[in-house]
Formats: sequence, C-alpha cells, structure tokens
Amino acid sequence: MSLLRVLIVEDNRQLAENLFEFLGEEAYQLDHAADGLTALHLLATNAYDVIVLDVGLPGVDGLTLCRRLREDLKRETPVLFLTARDSIDDKALGFRAGADDYLVKPFNLRELEMRLQALTRRSRPSSGQVEAGGFIFNPGTLEVLNAQGKRAKLVGYHATILENLLRAHPNLVTYQALSQALWGIDEGDLSSLRTHVYSLRKLLAAEFGRGLIRTHHGRGYSFDPEWVD
Ligand code: CA
Repeated sequence: MSLLRVLIVEDNRQLAENLFEFLGEEAYQLDHAADGLTALHLLATNAYDVIVLDVGLPGVDGLTLCRRLREDLKRETPVLFLTARDSIDDKALGFRAGADDYLVKPFNLRELEMRLQALTRRSRPSSGQVEAGGFIFNPGTLEVLNAQGKRAKLVGYHATILENLLRAHPNLVTYQALSQALWGIDEGDLSSLRTHVYSLRKLLAAEFGRGLIRTHHGRGYSFDPEWVD
C-alpha cells in the first residue's frame, strides 16, 4: 500500500511536531508549511491525498488558502480544518470555503488520524456500483447519476454517507451507523454529521432538483428519490 501524502499547514511548531511524531513517516509522507504562502507553493507543485489546515495562519489565512485551493488551483483534495473556534458560524465559514471536515483545538491525535483516514477512504476496495431508487453510485469514481444521465461528483465524506443510504434503501441508516462509517466510532459529532448531510442535500438538489435525503428525527436518515428538500 502506498503512503498517504499529507500536507500539514500549521504555524504552531510544537503542534506540527506532535502531528509528525504521532502520524509517523512509516505510514505517511508528510510535508509541513508554517504559513499560507509556503503552503500555496507546495500545493501548486505537489499532489497530496489530504491537507490538514490551521485556520489562523500568518499571511494568507486558512480560509483564504482553502478558497484558493478550490477556485484557483481547482483541486478537490480533502481539507481538514484545525480551528480554535467552536461557533457554528465559524464552522459554516470553513465549509463555505471548501473544507471537508474540521477539528476544534485541542483535539485528540487519534481522532485526527481517524478523520484523515475517513477523508481518504476513496481507494478502499470497491464492491461495485450501488443502485437504488433510479440512482447509481460508483464508489470508484465517487460519482452518482440518475436515469436521465445527470451526474454529481462527491467528495469522500459525502460519498460515504450517500453510499450507506443507498445500500440501506428504502430503510433508514441510524446516526450511529453513519458515525461509524465516517469516523470509526458510534458516538461521533452529531452536529458535524448534520452539517455534512445538509451540504450533501444541497449538492444533490443542485444537480437533481431534489434533496433526496429524508431526516428521521432522533433516529437517522434515509435515501428517498421523491424527497424534495
Ligand atoms: Ca495558528
């Protein structure tokens, strides 16, 4: 198995060193940038599987950097934000800038590693296409398409959610099962699961005219081809 290529953008040298030490260079190919401009340079010249990005950086801050990665460099590399802030508005800003996931400092290094692995799980052995309710999902390309040939390309965590919902269709998938699929634990952050489902619904609605994911309050979600919002 090839090494996971990770760029760590963090101006706190101690934290960056801890990350290097914890992740280890046997399982990961690690690069470090202590400021936004260095990070942009590395991103323009190297390919990474995932980026760990501190929000508060000297020069170009993490939000701007993420936006430039998506809009200027046209890269879909998964981004995990590290932020000291914990308000829902800050999280919304991060997701709007193109983040895939976030961790609030101080965080558990083991949790960071689980999230990195969840974000890069796209290379897991494919069990083939999943078909339900007139939609087809391809775990190899992370694309979902409908009978009219409309298609949407998903990022890793969206794909994980949709794949689980399609496999269970027409049954619901519990919050715990989705948390397990995303983060490897039953009791993951429910608010970040909701945020992911919310953004997935918006993306599906933009492509297919329907949100397609139904909320079962207090229980979980199901895929519903007739579901509008
Ligand atoms: Ca910082």
